Amino acid sequence: MLVVMKAQATAEEIQTVCDHIAQLGFRAHPLPGAQRTAIGITGNQGQIDQGNLEELSGVAEVIPVSKPYKLVSRDVKEEDTIIRFPGTNATIGGRNLAMIAGPCSIETRDQAFAIAEKIAAAGAQFFRGGAYKPRTSPYAFQGLGEDALQIMAEIRDRFGLRIVTEAIDNEALELVDKYADVIQIGARNMQNYSLLKAAGRKRKPVLLKRGMSATLEEFLMAAEYVMSEGNYQVILCERGVRTFADHTRNTLDLSIVPAVHRLSHLPILVDPSHGTGKRNKVVPLGRAAVAVGADGLIIEVHHQPDKALSDGAQSIYPEQFVQLMDEASQIAQVLHRNVPRGIELTENAGAVASAKN
Ligand code: PEP
Ligand code: MN
Repeated sequence: MLVVMKAQATAEEIQTVCDHIAQLGFRAHPLPGAQRTAIGITGNQGQIDQGNLEELSGVAEVIPVSKPYKLVSRDVKEEDTIIRFPGTNATIGGRNLAMIAGPCSIETRDQAFAIAEKIAAAGAQFFRGGAYKPRTSPYAFQGLGEDALQIMAEIRDRFGLRIVTEAIDNEALELVDKYADVIQIGARNMQNYSLLKAAGRKRKPVLLKRGMSATLEEFLMAAEYVMSEGNYQVILCERGVRTFADHTRNTLDLSIVPAVHRLSHLPILVDPSHGTGKRNKVVPLGRAAVAVGADGLIIEVHHQPDKALSDGAQSIYPEQFVQLMDEASQIAQVLHRNVPRGIELTENAGAVASAKN
């Protein structure tokens, strides 16, 4: 159920409707839009009586939402969600594309800084790096944990880059929430409902990767889990699915990008690194992702990929990332979109945006 408020509805009228919904034992999710606020109602198993809600002051209409996902849906919020990063000009969603790049894993302080410097110089606004790694083998490198988070926090201070890193479980989530700017939930955890709910109780944006065999509906329902707990800052990410194809690690399903845009207001990024698993295919598929309308890319970059402790074969060299930034910018222009270059800090004057230097 969705309550659409009149364009001129006041904050008090919106609050009164939310209180009324809470009194009925449901949860109200006010979602302000450019024209008007819509209030999503969750927690109801069946229909709720719309009669009384319609009578409340400031209410334009009450409409049932027939799709299984509600808060994720464009029916609830027509315009694209744009996630902002306080104190910076960085955004995810909307006209500007978000470029996120960095190593699969943070291995050492020197490795992370060497790569971050190149990423910042290339003009990306976000740095990725794994502190907790979901590895197929328990004997493979598992990540440096909190030490890696500390290194990434230093990278944010030095270069201004906003930090994206994965929380593999509820314990890691607490630390990732403390240090990072974006909480990544990996493909293997897309249907870890307790982790999704816990991330939904945080107030940092959540980057949710598509599960290896998840349908579009399952993917959107996973996002709904996060939003149902009150965290509306969700970023979707296509990272390839399992198919019979064996020339790539996964099959990058770019058709999900326009499919998501049709159904949902949430931004969707593409990860051609995990999506192909092969260095020589990352730049071409990155270009294709921008052409198909992705809201940004997440790319694994390593200065010495042959020495990487994880995912070296799919990590591109910093020079290739520079090339991808340039090509993505040109393709974006055709679509009347833009790839911002360098992060500008509007507050927090201590940090340096090195791409500007
Ligand atoms: C990663 O981003 O390093 C990662 C493990 O991704 P995914 O969850 O998509 O496999
Ligand atoms: Mn990886």
